[in-house]
Amino acid sequence: MYIGAIDIGGSKTIAGLVNENGELLIEKQIVTEKSDCAAHFNRCAALLLEAAAEYGAPAQALEGVGVSLPGMVDHSHSVLLLAPGAGWRDFPAAEFLREALGIRALWCENDVNNCARAELRFAGAPENFLWITVSTGIGGAVVADGRVLLGCNSLAGELGHCKVEFEHPLPCPCGSRGCLEAHASGAALSRRFARLLAEDPQAAALARERGASPDAAGCAALAQAGFSPARALFDRAGGYLGQALAPVVSMLNPERVYFGGGVARSLGLLLPRMRSALGARAAESCAGVEIRATGLGYEASLLGAAALFLEQAR
Ligand SMILES: [Zn+2]
Repeated sequence: MYIGAIDIGGSKTIAGLVNENGELLIEKQIVTEKSDCAAHFNRCAALLLEAAAEYGAPAQALEGVGVSLPGMVDHSHSVLLLAPGAGWRDFPAAEFLREALGIRALWCENDVNNCARAELRFAGAPENFLWITVSTGIGGAVVADGRVLLGCNSLAGELGHCKVEFEHPLPCPCGSRGCLEAHASGAALSRRFARLLAEDPQAAALARERGASPDAAGCAALAQAGFSPARALFDRAGGYLGQALAPVVSMLNPERVYFGGGVARSLGLLLPRMRSALGARAAESCAGVEIRATGLGYEASLLGAAALFLEQAR
């Protein structure tokens, strides 16, 4: 079975073919052009057809298509309600792509929800789990009894905009202050690390010596090398994450929490303080929830698009 999958991210867009076992057969990438939404969706359709042709599967061979979008999608998996990073709003994404591709069996969904679907369908996730993406921003998805929870306005899982800092709240891209995303995202870590490099000559010298980039990955490299000011930045972020997760795990009793996104590769640096915050704040019976990085890597959202198709086509 050939399933078309499209993952439109904040900076890049991937289209490819996936089979029913979640094996990625081919993928192609372009830059996400945010200035003209319809033009970009047309390019996505062309990219998918190009990938299919290159693999030797004509459009008629596709069973259907799933799409991951960087924003909120309505309950019918059709309309992109809002993609804040791209500035897109109320775009009939599914109908547009159905027309462009000539394929009716096509559905769209928020990318983080689709990551959770990929974990559920292709990677043996339990029936109750949370998925947290920590990259430039922070997003979340909730799977309860084997189903992705959408919430009344498709906003379930919006962990990134819970308030976690009240004494020195930083501005968040959402317009509010003190959000988890403003204090514990990859962008937040990068900002703090850049400041550390500017203010601490020892940090700057060590970063140069180790070729560490001035971002969250560079901060992780220094933290792993035992440089305590870099380690402290991860401790702080981990504490905020645990603080935000505590009421959620107490309420939902997930079996596992998966972390995805770039910062997930540094999960080991975030875990000690995350664990202690959970221990201090969550219900005792839920605080020991298993926490692990996803094994799906950067393809999680693309594979999740295929999982969405399989779920909807049932
Ligand atoms: Zn926010």
